[in-house]
Amino acid sequence: MRKYVIMGVQGSGKGTQSALLAADLDLVHISVGDIFRWHVKNHTKLGAQVRRLVAAGELVGDDLVEDVVRDRLQLHDWNYGFVIDGFPRNRRQAEFFLESYDIDGVIHLDLPDAEVRRRVLARRLCSRCGMDYNLIAHRPEQEGRCDVCGGELVSRADDTPDALARRLTDYHSKIDPVLELFRRKEYVMTIDARADKATVQRTIRTRFNLPPYLPAQEETVALSEQPGGG
Ligand SMILES: [Zn+2]
Repeated sequence: MRKYVIMGVQGSGKGTQSALLAADLDLVHISVGDIFRWHVKNHTKLGAQVRRLVAAGELVGDDLVEDVVRDRLQLHDWNYGFVIDGFPRNRRQAEFFLESYDIDGVIHLDLPDAEVRRRVLARRLCSRCGMDYNLIAHRPEQEGRCDVCGGELVSRADDTPDALARRLTDYHSKIDPVLELFRRKEYVMTIDARADKATVQRTIRTRFNLPPYLPAQEETVALSEQPGGG
């Protein structure tokens, strides 16, 4: 069984790298963000709670995140292991996680803040169908229009330089101490996340002695045209 924590600031490609690992190695990708988005979309009680917090400009608290992760892991549908993304968020949770789950390693996708700004501020979203675009990695065929439905492409409301600067400060103040704790216990492999996604995935496989990454041929072509996605 393989159990990994993946850490990295938004825009570092955590979701993409987790998905590639999960698909190939039969791991379950547990994304705390995706779990919360699912609850919001499906109007659950938890979703309503998250919606209220976000509307009030607050972040989802660490305790709520911890409950969600505990419930998710208790499903025990991860026979071959998991990659968890979005947890732990503080030192106490990190200690608890190390004691309870015997993890194999921490994948730290390292991306300089300047590159995060470049990537995140290039994100666009279709105002009609919700399809994601990125002006660096996934450009629409026609400027400002969705390839799928022709809807207008807009930035997310919270993708402004000011909001992003606040998120980066918040991320570093919370996550750097967690990384430091994992580092002291020698779990962390820091991977340069500026490379294209196939290179990042190959580096992860090498550093953790995992089976090599062999993308399908057409995927290789698409990836070489799209440096620095996700
Ligand atoms: Zn659309």
